[in-house]
Amino acid sequence: MNAKAQKAKGCGIEPAYYDAVTQAIRSEAVKVLKEGAVSAVIGYLPGRRKSAAVPAVVTTEEEAGRLIFSPACVNNLSLYLTKAKKGILPGGKIGIVAKGCDLRALAGLMGESQIKRDDLFIIGINCAGVQGAVAAGNGQLTEASIAKKCRECTAHTPEGVDFVAGTLPHLDGLTPLEAEELARIEAMPQAERWAYWKEQFSRCIRCMACRQVCPFCYCEQCLCDKNRPQAVESSPRPAGNTAWHIVRAMHLAGRCAGCAECERSCPMDIPLNLLNRRMAQELKELYDYEASMAPQEKGPLNQYKEDDDQSFIK
Ligand code: SF4
Ligand code: SF4
Ligand code: SF4
Repeated sequence: MNAKAQKAKGCGIEPAYYDAVTQAIRSEAVKVLKEGAVSAVIGYLPGRRKSAAVPAVVTTEEEAGRLIFSPACVNNLSLYLTKAKKGILPGGKIGIVAKGCDLRALAGLMGESQIKRDDLFIIGINCAGVQGAVAAGNGQLTEASIAKKCRECTAHTPEGVDFVAGTLPHLDGLTPLEAEELARIEAMPQAERWAYWKEQFSRCIRCMACRQVCPFCYCEQCLCDKNRPQAVESSPRPAGNTAWHIVRAMHLAGRCAGCAECERSCPMDIPLNLLNRRMAQELKELYDYEASMAPQEKGPLNQYKEDDDQSFIK
């Protein structure tokens, strides 16, 4: 294979990049555990299948020496710091491996007083990308297998972390597929756009995987599970499905980190991240607000200001 074909196949990201990040994570995780600076590190271990990776909480130097970073390290590990996962972590300061998009979730959780910066040791990754739902056969990232969010990432370089793992390689510019799809939907007449989303929502089986995987869906009792009185019909029928997706989108507006874990987890291939992104656009246009890697005061939909635009109340 000539150099040009190799580059196209490999998306410009060589396996050596992942090896170097892996080594950096291992040595730092071993160091902080050995020093007693943290009681555990949340990271990724090899999965059972070749080229797979699974989230893991490691508490020994030996386990930390097996941590990895590969294109299969897709999970947003900030989920493991939320109330929804309480009880799985030991007490004390916790180390966590974080890609840039996951860092935005960590920052959001700090802004919502769910976690404290001082309780964390953050190993940020200079992140070139991870795979989408369809993995490459040999585990190497290709232009066909890279996650859509990584094609237009604005968070490759971590900020405000305690340690940075790896060096960012040169990244080839990739066509932003999600932005194109969003523009296509936005250009539709309203009735056609509504029909598009109704068709998408009609496939929802209400498995709630999208909720369970989202770091911001940490309520102990979800409004959508309440049945006395019932707020949202829970069986997968059209009216309830539409209500669920509107509630989900509204509750996450101004909070969503754009990790796209909800869409990756959806067994019905519903383009949830397009909705997330559309809401994020609205927040940017209306309030000049966007999720970032630095904790911010409450998002614009969580607070009231006297000079807020009230023109919509007529
Ligand atoms: S969106 Fe950016 S930070 Fe997140 S996994 Fe992709 S390349 Fe890494
Ligand atoms: S709504 Fe989806 S993309 Fe946004 S933070 Fe939750 S899981 Fe991530
Ligand atoms: S993961 Fe998909 S199918 Fe399951 S509730 Fe969410 S949108 Fe519906």
